[in-house]
Amino acid sequence: MKQARILLVEDETHIAQGLIFNLELEGYLVNHAETGADAMQAFSNGPHDLVILDLMLPDCHGIDLCRQMRKAASQLPILMLTALGEEQDRIKGLKEGADDYLSKPFSLDELLLRVRGMLRRSAWYQPTYSKEEDYLFSDNRIDLKNLEAVTANGNIHLTELEGRMLETFFACEGETLTRAVLLKSVWGMAEDTETRTLDNFIVRLRKYFEVDPTKPKHFLTVRGRGYRFVREPEQK
Ligand code: CA
Repeated sequence: MKQARILLVEDETHIAQGLIFNLELEGYLVNHAETGADAMQAFSNGPHDLVILDLMLPDCHGIDLCRQMRKAASQLPILMLTALGEEQDRIKGLKEGADDYLSKPFSLDELLLRVRGMLRRSAWYQPTYSKEEDYLFSDNRIDLKNLEAVTANGNIHLTELEGRMLETFFACEGETLTRAVLLKSVWGMAEDTETRTLDNFIVRLRKYFEVDPTKPKHFLTVRGRGYRFVREPEQK
């Protein structure tokens, strides 16, 4: 696997130095910026695989950076560093597209775990199939580019959201996707959102693509966790 490139935006020298040292020990490449202006410069020189973003910067608020980065790079994982007790900042930051946050002071181990987890999840989203080609499973042929599907039950026109959900499943074939990850990647919702919408979507996908929607072979429930898409069901 290639070395992940991390953009660290942090103006407090002792925190930054500790992080750079330990991130590099873990094998990451680190670009460090101390101001918002430097950060945007480094960002546009990118690409980066992950951003660690302190919110309190000398020349701007990190939330503004977060908004700009998210606009330019919709899939880029962004981890915010917030001051303890600044709940409003956390909420605003998550709304502006940050994926996760840590409150200062945080433990180094926890930060490294978060970074590793975020990079792993984002790697799942790098599609291994091409949207240019139809995706085939069982008797289904799916054209995600034009949102058309040919199934055993006839032709279907897919909605935008159905297409996005299928794309997520196809890109992460065989992996368990938690409800939180699916909500985030399909609807862009915060991870703790409670909703039945997701389950209704799965019911619909099974109705379209499963021979017997009550005994799904492709869109599987992983109890207590989420869902998993299997292209070639195991023979029983
Ligand atoms: Ca700061």
